[in-house]
Amino acid sequence: MDGAAQREDLRLSADVVIVGSGAGGGIAAEVLSQAGLDVLILEEGGLRSSSDFRLSEAKAYPELYQESAARQTVDKGISILQGRTVGGGTVVNWTSSFRTPADTLNWWRTEHGLAALSEEAMRPWFEKAERRLGIAPWQGEPNANNLVLERGCLALGLRHARISRNVRGCWNLGYCGMGCPTNAKQSMLVTSIPGALEKGARLLTRARVDSLSVDAGRQRISEARISLLSADGLTPTGRKATVAAAHVVLAAGAIGTPAVMLRSGLADHAGLTGKRTFLHPVALSAALMPERVEPFNGAPQTVYSDHYMHTQPLDGPLGFKLEVPPIHPLLAGVTFPGMGEAQAGLLRRFPNLHATLALLRDGFHKESRGGAVQLRADGSPALAYPLNDVLWEGVRRSWLAMAELQFAAGAKMVFPLHERARPATSWKQAREIIGGLPLEPLRAKLVSAHVMGGMAMSDDPARGVVDDLGRHWSWRNLTVVDGSVFPTSIGANPQLSIYAFAWRAAAHLAQALAPRSSPSVS
Ligand SMILES: Cc1cc2nc3c(=O)[nH]c(=O)nc-3n(C[C@H](O)[C@H](O)[C@H](O)COP(=O)(O)OP(=O)(O)OC[C@H]3O[C@@H](n4cnc5c(N)ncnc54)[C@H](O)[C@@H]3O)c2cc1C
Ligand code: SF4
Repeated sequence: MDGAAQREDLRLSADVVIVGSGAGGGIAAEVLSQAGLDVLILEEGGLRSSSDFRLSEAKAYPELYQESAARQTVDKGISILQGRTVGGGTVVNWTSSFRTPADTLNWWRTEHGLAALSEEAMRPWFEKAERRLGIAPWQGEPNANNLVLERGCLALGLRHARISRNVRGCWNLGYCGMGCPTNAKQSMLVTSIPGALEKGARLLTRARVDSLSVDAGRQRISEARISLLSADGLTPTGRKATVAAAHVVLAAGAIGTPAVMLRSGLADHAGLTGKRTFLHPVALSAALMPERVEPFNGAPQTVYSDHYMHTQPLDGPLGFKLEVPPIHPLLAGVTFPGMGEAQAGLLRRFPNLHATLALLRDGFHKESRGGAVQLRADGSPALAYPLNDVLWEGVRRSWLAMAELQFAAGAKMVFPLHERARPATSWKQAREIIGGLPLEPLRAKLVSAHVMGGMAMSDDPARGVVDDLGRHWSWRNLTVVDGSVFPTSIGANPQLSIYAFAWRAAAHLAQALAPRSSPSVS
């Protein structure tokens, strides 16, 4: 059903209504519908498929991303990429797949009371997701962009490895961020959402959940209230829908889910709804290489290094993971420093450009408290994420590490993505330039594609919003299954963590709602 096509208001009902069809919502829909439950999925984005994916940035960003890929934190210090289409972020992500690191799980067990989340207990859920989504180490040769990272690691003796990807029959095109045109990427759009629909689930697209209403006496959510959106996917048509359901599953992403709760006025005991939102803020360093790199060509991320994750304690100065981003002209134009002729000169050398990224692990250091989701006057969400000294120190340290690595890999010129950065032609010069850069929002270009937290799990309602199965501590017919449940950042690209946690939460929910038709779970 397409919300844009509805000529009347709708009144619907279901056993379970799922808000959002991304990583968490897709998995939950498949697991719950397989248990025989009547599932209705609500998605504010439109339904697009491989024939719509034309390797075009200009087409993909407005159609497939939140705020046309121009979402930013309140002070504009960090640009945020999130999906907004059937399949959510999984349609546009870069396919890198990591299990939740053991030290993150241990931290959650010791610091957040999540005793059930041992590596051993989580293993079966990771294995299920890996099997379902074809997640396996990438067997092809890394593209030239990734080989720069590998070469730098080898030259400096840094531990590095190949990345696992959720693909089947990948054509190695490199346009994952614009939607996979070959259906090789095992996103929710081509796996769990169709799997759920085959089992009888229904999908209502261009349907934005405004709020949830409650039966306060019974501490239960009674229905979801929805604005139907026109074909542009943004403007309300004026038509409304309501869905009455025995159980509500929130999976609108780590900004969208707290926003639904805030718009509904549904607080939690700890006052943590929409708080402690983490981003893995990403600092970037670009380099001009003597060889052609063609950073737009080939599987985008196939090599990583966790060396700098382990050079300090987990709760010490922020650790960072090194990877490379694919580089396409439109996003490069708004991210790379300089304007006019200076930037045009750089972009003329596009085929020789390389970039390394450092994904900073936020949420463990006591001063790394993340951001907070707020509502604008029209009810749309915005994320305030203050940039403090702990973060800036990590950014500068990561620029230094990346510059050293890029020169070790043979770079002729290196520049961190900062408006004031002059290009350096040697590692010695880079050290001087990076050491003197003012660390301020808007001058340093920081980005994020990993939004996590804001509805944190804890064993204690005084310290978290949901329990380890995503069950809300106050509203017992409400379960959260997206990236918002994580109490800190993951410390690795989060999609596989979300799949596994959503699968575990949904399997337990299926057991509770349909015990006769669901496999037992421990
Ligand atoms: C460009 C890009 C590259 C990435 N690369 C990787 C990668 O390589 N590896 C990795 O692990 N992760 C990657 N990620 C991150 C990963 O895709 C996300 O962490 C993951 O998709 C988040 O899952 P989620 O369920 O929390 O939310 P999402 O997947 O974002 O899904 C939320 C859905 O809810 C919908 N929604 C929001 N509000 C409402 C509402 N009120 N009503 C109805 N629907 C609503 C949204 O439109 C969206 O479709 C990338 C993300 C991006 C954007
Ligand atoms: S690299 Fe593979 S997964 Fe990505 S868009 Fe190309 S074919 Fe699809």
